[in-house]
Amino acid sequence: MKEDKNIKNLHIDFEKLRKLMIEDQIKARGIKDQNVISAMLKVPREKFISPNLHDSAYDDRPLPIGFGQTISQPYIVALMTELLELNNTHKVLEIGTGCGYQTAILAEIANMVYSIEIIKELYEKAKLNLASYNNIILKNGDGYNGWREFSPYDRIIVTAAPQKIPQPLIDQLSNNGIIVAPEGPAGWSQVLIKIKKQNSKIATQQICDVAFVPLTRNYKETL
Ligand code: SAH
Repeated sequence: MKEDKNIKNLHIDFEKLRKLMIEDQIKARGIKDQNVISAMLKVPREKFISPNLHDSAYDDRPLPIGFGQTISQPYIVALMTELLELNNTHKVLEIGTGCGYQTAILAEIANMVYSIEIIKELYEKAKLNLASYNNIILKNGDGYNGWREFSPYDRIIVTAAPQKIPQPLIDQLSNNGIIVAPEGPAGWSQVLIKIKKQNSKIATQQICDVAFVPLTRNYKETL
């Protein structure tokens, strides 16, 4: 049965599905940033999910990646990356590596990506998935307090929802930096926000309603 599934997967034209995803889900909904479109055309999303979900690799929805977590819907990955206004000079911090798909998209565009994942098994999986990139540094831990060692960051992206954007992340953002993150309680009343920092002043823009897994805490690390 398992073998049948693998044989079937050999016949999926992933490149064609990827191109369709870009047209129908990404461009059709207004994403224009050419860096984002090129990166999403390049990165094989199927490599980041388990083989039994390969049929759904380019579906217009999030997919399970184990441990109660999900890989975000392609459009949300595109939207968040476009909102970051990313270019090849940027140093980026990502909180919530998950399977590493969003990390790969960031690394295709940015100069350096630092990414933190709280679940050990997902961190290990992401390390394998991202082995071909030499501009990604991963860490297993609680990202609530950011990653001071390499701060400040030009861009910060959070892919799990905190109740409020953690102050350490705002502190570790460089001048003229941008944070894109969901904010709000677990469930359905979260908002995607974009924060800009200019001369220590913070401007927050609400983008749209979203549903993300909650940002969890490792309280042992905060002691
Ligand atoms: N961008 C990822 C999204 C994964 S879901 C992807 O496309 O695969 C969000 C991830 O955030 C989960 O893997 C979850 O374990 C992780 N997470 C939750 N709270 C965290 C925290 N405090 N620090 C780091 N990672 C966290």
